[in-house]
Amino acid sequence: MAKVSKSLSVEPVMQREDVLAILEAADSLVSRAGRSMLVKVLKGSREKKLLELGLNCCDAYGYYADRHKDEVLERVDWMIKNDYLSIGYSGDMPLLYFTDYGWIVQREQGVNRLLSEWTDWVDHQVPVLSMSHMKDKNREMILMFLEKVAETQDARFIPLLEKWQPIDYKKVRQAIGQVIAYLKDPKGTLELEGSPHPMMRTADIVLTRSSERLKCWDCGDRFEWSISEQDSFRMQGWDPPKRCPECREEKQRRRLEMGDFSDF
Ligand SMILES: [Zn+2]
Repeated sequence: MAKVSKSLSVEPVMQREDVLAILEAADSLVSRAGRSMLVKVLKGSREKKLLELGLNCCDAYGYYADRHKDEVLERVDWMIKNDYLSIGYSGDMPLLYFTDYGWIVQREQGVNRLLSEWTDWVDHQVPVLSMSHMKDKNREMILMFLEKVAETQDARFIPLLEKWQPIDYKKVRQAIGQVIAYLKDPKGTLELEGSPHPMMRTADIVLTRSSERLKCWDCGDRFEWSISEQDSFRMQGWDPPKRCPECREEKQRRRLEMGDFSDF
């Protein structure tokens, strides 16, 4: 019977792979589209607008092809409630964005994906004709990736770097040059200017959530931000509450009083 009462709020069962796939799909459309488009990408929809935006090219396109769209939407909403993605408004249009936390996870996924792709190429001696796909990627991610390439101390990456270097922007060209020099003669560890702080590089994927303790702006006390409150705040695209319930009430009371006075 306990099970029945628990299933009042339907929580999808999420695995690490689900989180990564949804973030990957979100990466193709953040700040351009909202929840329903993300669901369509994950479903592998052939809708015209989706194809026009080129969203069928993303690696997670069709990841949930055999799930019902309501179920996929639940998963997308889980990502919002659990602070990987957030809703922001462009006029009246709700759009999806990465949260800081979600972006750290996605950026790391991107770095690992690139590194395994490159490792595959050199392991199997695949001739790489063009490096144009490396251009216009997020700068922090590219610098993190270059540091990872340096970390391997694998000189087989040099020809790929040399192929990539001339087509990218000055800052990236310089960083690539540093990595090439390092791979020719590795000493110490290479740190590239502008790469994310080590503390901001990896985030554990937390699949279970608890209430959060927030600090009140007015009285400075800590207060509980319950899971159900987090859910509703995040689904509305609101920032976390700034005041504890008491101060919130107090503020409201004062506002009412002011209203009363202004009537006299
Ligand atoms: Zn307070």
